[in-house]
Amino acid sequence: MKCREVELCITSRTSSREVSMQDVVSLFKNLDIDKLSRRKMIMIVKRLTKKCRIRLKRRFGQHFLVDPGAIRRIIEHIRGSEKVLEIGPGIGLLTYLLSQVCGLVIGVEIDRSFINILNMICKLRNNIDIVITDALLFKIPNDLKVFSNLPFYITSDIIVKFVREGVKEALITVQREVANRLTAVPGSPDYGRLSVLVQCFYNVRKLFNIGRLSFYPPPEVDASVVLLERRSNPCISMNVLHIFEKVTSLLFSFRNKNVEKVLKNYLNVQVPDNLRGKRVFELSVDDVVSIVELVAGCIE
Ligand code: SAH
Repeated sequence: MKCREVELCITSRTSSREVSMQDVVSLFKNLDIDKLSRRKMIMIVKRLTKKCRIRLKRRFGQHFLVDPGAIRRIIEHIRGSEKVLEIGPGIGLLTYLLSQVCGLVIGVEIDRSFINILNMICKLRNNIDIVITDALLFKIPNDLKVFSNLPFYITSDIIVKFVREGVKEALITVQREVANRLTAVPGSPDYGRLSVLVQCFYNVRKLFNIGRLSFYPPPEVDASVVLLERRSNPCISMNVLHIFEKVTSLLFSFRNKNVEKVLKNYLNVQVPDNLRGKRVFELSVDDVVSIVELVAGCIE
């Protein structure tokens, strides 16, 4: 299909760096998830980056998933003709494997050094579409299911974006610590603003863990694969989402404090009887929702 650039205005350049090398093409054409090993995937990443003269950038969280077992478990979640959004296709290995089992993959990549290789896979398969832009600026069509080995530095912002833009389902690889925050229960050390925000809108399940050696080059932390499925009955209306976001931010900046004091001192509202004596980190999602409704009632 096509490879578009948004924001950055270059049209597709055909220079000596254009990826036309026959062995790169055949590398992709022969990709078969059932025949790949971790060693072979690392070798492919090394060959592709070398051939295409790509220098990996730590600041963009460029750690490629090279664990065929994990990839198999991820792509098992695709149902036939689904349309998929991949945030950060990079050198396109996962993108290509996704395209073999789904209807359409739209890849959104920030780093222009992957343009040639991504252009090439668009030519090889007619169900891959690439947009070169920052995923945080890309409006996510809500009929797309997100699959992404997320660059760790944008994880929280991108998840907040999923909430705001109504993403229905996302299967994401995130830092283990973030996975723990996403699934944390009230009263636990990992429970915070992100847990409340996400659990209000999604059923969240940690599917499995992935060690750091499943990535090339390996990051400094382990990861987990998490499934977010939009709740059909979110506990709060989108109309008050902005209030919800502000209130949860404020509350959890005082996570160990008594709820009554925080509400009185910073929001000027009386604590509901059932929340008297609780500390912020003990508030359930429903408790936070009831506070947001109180605050929204005062504003309206
Ligand atoms: N999906 C690939 C690569 C994951 S590495 C794989 O697992 O094999 C993360 C990718 O996200 C890199 O390609 C990086 O350049 C890209 N990326 C980083 N920040 C981004 C952003 N803000 N928007 C879109 N892509 C981004």
